[in-house]
Order: sequence, then structure tokens, then C-alpha cells
Amino acid sequence: MTGVLIIGAGAAGAGRQRARGPERGQSIEQSVEVPFRVAAVGGKVPVAIEVNEECATCHGNGAAPGAQLRPCGECSGRGVISFGQGSFAVNRPCPVCAGRGSVPSERCPTCRGAGDTRVSRKVLITVPSGAETGAKVRLKGQGGKGAAGGQAGDLVITFTVTPDRFYKREGLDVVATVPINVAQATLGSRISVKTLDEKKVAIRIPAGTSAGKRFKITGQGIEKDGKKGDLLVEVTITVPETLTEAQEKAMREFAEAGGMKF
Ligand SMILES: [Zn+2]
Ligand SMILES: [Zn+2]
Repeated sequence: MTGVLIIGAGAAGAGRQRARGPERGQSIEQSVEVPFRVAAVGGKVPVAIEVNEECATCHGNGAAPGAQLRPCGECSGRGVISFGQGSFAVNRPCPVCAGRGSVPSERCPTCRGAGDTRVSRKVLITVPSGAETGAKVRLKGQGGKGAAGGQAGDLVITFTVTPDRFYKREGLDVVATVPINVAQATLGSRISVKTLDEKKVAIRIPAGTSAGKRFKITGQGIEKDGKKGDLLVEVTITVPETLTEAQEKAMREFAEAGGMKF
């Protein structure tokens, strides 16, 4: 009988001292991926967390419903056992009753006597605008539930910002790379660009624009601590991979007219 109980107590781990009053819940650290746009403008991300929570069947005492609790024979109901002698004695939670001071006549079938169960919970985490990889938020009391009236633990979330195909970040500025074609680059054009909040803004590309040139859209960057960055539109120039005969002829004439080497 006692041997069976030791297994349950071992799973519960050392340091558990239910008999000695409220116990603070488990603190949970977890990293979460945040899409670039959410990190830039702020928003919410769902996070699934695994928490140890007080078993709902036995309310943490490890006993099956209707089971009788008897004082633990190992620790005489004290919940602790002394190791060593005299002033070197150390009190440890009793391994047989897991510090509770009592043992049930039958263990709780839900938690197998451990007193707590592993629960999966979904929480929505608020991401502040301008969040960067490595930034942490501590949500007080959002970790594991406390036992016997103890405070809940904290939930500490570390952000990892995932890259975007279109945007990249430079401080509070956001750089958007936009491809234009050779005709747009040489003759000029108007193009439309999406801002971080998914509005479309038209910008004028002047004639004679080279690849890598940046155009600023003021105030459409990242807002953080009362400051606001800009959206920088950087153009790349796409060149047709194949030309029709007519296009090739026209391009040769274009180059010769301008004295361009080819
Ligand atoms: Zn239980
Ligand atoms: Zn005991």
C-alpha cells in the first residue's frame, strides 16, 4: 500500500507542501512567433500553453472521491521529514504523502494522486506596436493556477518576429521592396503601395529611376514611444527574360541612339 503511494508522491515532485498552506502556481515561459505586420502595428496572437492546474476531481489532495484520509505513517502527519542531526537537520517534504501529511485510502483516478493535472489553455497575447524579437511580456497571474488558495503563477512570453516577403524593418522605418519594369524606370510611372495598415498609397516614380532608389511615405512606419517612422519604398527593376524580335530591334535602336554599349 505504502509502496504504491511512493510512486504518486515521486511524480508530484519535491518541494510540494500542500499541508503547509497556499502554494503559488507554476510560472510558464514560452516563446511565440509574431508575424511581421502584427509586430509592427500591434495586435494579438493566440498562444497554446500547457499548465499544471489543481486537479478538479480531488482539489489537489490526491484522494479519490469518497476516499478516507489517514495521517501519513511515514512522517506522523507532519508532512515533513528531517534529515541529518542537530543543527544540521534539514526538513524535506515527506516523499510518501508529498508533504500533505495525510494519505488517501484510494488515490484520485484523474491525477493518479499527484494533485494536479496538465491542462492545455489557449490565450490571446497582446503584442505592442514595434515589438522586436526577444521582447518579453509578463502576464501576472496568467500562468498555472495556485493550489489551496495560492496565487497563480506568471506567464512570460518571448516574441520571435517572423520575416515578411514584402517589408523589412530599419529602426522605426519600414522598407517595402517594390518591383517596377524597365519602361516604368526609364519613362516614369505611378505605382500603388500597401501601407502597414493595408491602405493603398499612390507614389510617383520619376523618369530615370535606378534600382535601389527609395521613396519616403512620411509617418507610415512603426509607432513606438510616441515616435513614428516612415515607410520607405525601395524599387527594384525587373528586366524581361525574353524579347520578341520587335522588342529586341527596338532595344538595339534605343541603345544605339543613346550611344549605350552592349
Ligand atoms: Zn486528482
Ligand atoms: Zn508523510
